[in-house]
Amino acid sequence: MTEHAITEKPRQADVVIVGNGALGLFLADELMERGMGSVVVVGPSHRETGASQAAGAMLGCFGETTTESLRTDAARTRFELGVNAHERWPAVLAKLEEFSRTGRPLLSAPDTHVVLNSIGAELDTDNFKAMLDALDQYGKPWEEMDPHDIPGFNPRLDTRALRAVHLPTEGAVDARGVLLALEARLRDAGAVQVDQSVRRLVSSDDVVTGVELDDGHLIEAGTVVVAAGIHSESLVRTVSEDIDLIPTFPGLGFAMIARRTGGDPFRSVVRTPNRGFACGLHVVPQGDGLEYYGATNRLVDSITGVTWMADVRFLAQYSMQQLDERAAGHEVVQWLAGNRPVTLDGFPMIGWLPPSGLYLMTGTYRDGFHCAPLLAEHVANELQGKPGTIDPMFAPTREPIVTRTVEWSINEYVEHNLAGWFETGAEAAPQMTTAQIAEYYRTRCVQAYDQLGIDYGLGPDILWYAQGSLLGARRIRRYLRSHRGGGETQARSVGTGSGDTQ
Ligand SMILES: Cc1cc2nc3c(=O)[nH]c(=O)nc-3n(C[C@H](O)[C@H](O)[C@H](O)COP(=O)(O)OP(=O)(O)OC[C@H]3O[C@@H](n4cnc5c(N)ncnc54)[C@H](O)[C@@H]3O)c2cc1C
Repeated sequence: MTEHAITEKPRQADVVIVGNGALGLFLADELMERGMGSVVVVGPSHRETGASQAAGAMLGCFGETTTESLRTDAARTRFELGVNAHERWPAVLAKLEEFSRTGRPLLSAPDTHVVLNSIGAELDTDNFKAMLDALDQYGKPWEEMDPHDIPGFNPRLDTRALRAVHLPTEGAVDARGVLLALEARLRDAGAVQVDQSVRRLVSSDDVVTGVELDDGHLIEAGTVVVAAGIHSESLVRTVSEDIDLIPTFPGLGFAMIARRTGGDPFRSVVRTPNRGFACGLHVVPQGDGLEYYGATNRLVDSITGVTWMADVRFLAQYSMQQLDERAAGHEVVQWLAGNRPVTLDGFPMIGWLPPSGLYLMTGTYRDGFHCAPLLAEHVANELQGKPGTIDPMFAPTREPIVTRTVEWSINEYVEHNLAGWFETGAEAAPQMTTAQIAEYYRTRCVQAYDQLGIDYGLGPDILWYAQGSLLGARRIRRYLRSHRGGGETQARSVGTGSGDTQ
């Protein structure tokens, strides 16, 4: 955006998009392509704390599969959003390539290798198997191979991979390069990009009529789309505190880009399955000898661009152990920290809000970069009054989607903690068995539910957060009690969950 700074800020537009991450820019591009009038994108060019600028941008729906991905109707619908998004990328890259500003291809890796090593407990094995089942169910290509044959892959012997599969059609894009290319294409098409923040949404008689920028400048708009990532919820609240939104939490992620100083480079994405509260350990080639190592995930109380020393250690140590021991000598050229927009039920929030003229698109958590072109298509349709291309279940004012019972949630939480326990090399007394460690986590989890006093089965990441944050626990309890009536903990029997909203 800084390439041609805007001197004259517009006073009017047909559509104002608040947020210049992947969702905002892809939407602007789609609207311009359809000739939907004047489009203004507002967002600071530094994008600090945003998710897109920190993303590994793996286009990986199958590489992301977990045992939960296809277990319920709702989860399957969400999963298929990723599958459909994947089909959009060849055309997206074809149109963006000529606007690339980095001198490197936007498709930074054409394929992925998923490795199963022994460090991450049963959860890894289960998710690996779930991935193979999903690939077969959807008729996607994959091939089992010898982990030694993966270019660049050179883990330490004690964390060597036991199995590996090649996913020939799932790669990754250069997130930062794609954002730059989108900005250039938007400039070329005549969309206005304002390098500032929106202070508040402006409304009159229950209709959103525009936005006010940080410097007080007003832009009138026919429609305002809020696509400001984790900042979206607070922005929407500037128009009314009463809008009944699913709560969102910042999922702080840390990653780094390093320059390789020796050994064979990675030529594909190499990753573990999704594991222990996070998206698995991965390396994504960036071209020019650069490699992206990611990523941590920690739900936090407030949005921040500052990462924890523990997360730096985690990523550096496990990248060296599990991906390439020569990484110890690589030069870190960029630290990346971003906040994933995480909703209470884990599903995106895409749809119109009650004050007319206001649309929300956020809550994409781990794969918003990948899904952005498809979501842009959907939102453009909705803005044109046409049928959308994704399921309406993601409406932001829905009741929280139920995919697990409390008992299921407790078991899942135990599995994730065990995975974390073994991956981090936590020490127990020598006579302590895995079953005893599991029992310890189970007891803690039951206590957490008793304290929360809710009957809604939370995802392991949200539960982990609620346990460690008074503020988080209070927010979750207040929201769920007002939405699910009463609040006595019930439904403690193991169930398969349901995909229905309640
Ligand atoms: C470390 C990490 C790794 C990830 N890896 C992947 C991956 O491999 N694949 C994948 O698909 N996804 C990945 N994700 C998730 C993905 O980045 C997000 O789902 C997606 O980028 C969200 O895009 P967004 O546009 O909604 O939000 P953001 O990227 O957060 O963009 C919101 C923008 O709004 C701007 N903004 C905020 N407040 C205001 C305001 N008041 N006025 C104007 N503008 C404002 C911000 O500056 C920001 O640029 C990763 C995320 C992280 C953090």
